[in-house]
Amino acid sequence: MAIERTLSIIKPDAIKRNLTGAIITLIENSDLHIVAQKRIRLTKEQAKTFYAFHKDRPFFDELVDFMLSSPVVVQVLEGESAISVYRNLMGDTDPTRAADGTIRKVFAKSIEENSVHGSDSAIAARVEIAQFFSDNEIVG
Ligand code: ADP
Ligand code: MG
Repeated sequence: MAIERTLSIIKPDAIKRNLTGAIITLIENSDLHIVAQKRIRLTKEQAKTFYAFHKDRPFFDELVDFMLSSPVVVQVLEGESAISVYRNLMGDTDPTRAADGTIRKVFAKSIEENSVHGSDSAIAARVEIAQFFSDNEIVG
């Protein structure tokens, strides 16, 4: 067990439905602390780089367009085992399979428009945080 940081994105479907605060409330009700946060509009290059791992999947172009369809809120969350704690709070990628009370069960519209992103490993967290935040923007 260790204090970790993870990258969270509140995705366009949630931003468009004014759910930023509701999602932040669920995050803050868990043992995660928001140590950096900003609202930005991703560039196409940023979205493609961010999801490069999925570039050969059939939904890649649609996913990139979705991520560009409104601003997003990017956050760094910090806490004990933050990476797995946030993945558990998010719930399954497919909201129909997500557990009760998870962000995706409560808010997601579909397997694509699923309201939030969270890093899936320590390596991913480090790379993803560095894509959006410099060290002096993260205040623990
Ligand atoms: P997660 O966000 O749970 O880590 P993945 O890394 O597998 O999920 O996928 C990244 C994102 O791609 C998902 O959050 C979702 O927005 C989108 N996505 C995943 N699977 C599909 C699918 N079958 N059809 C459309 N979009 C998908
Ligand atoms: Mg993933």
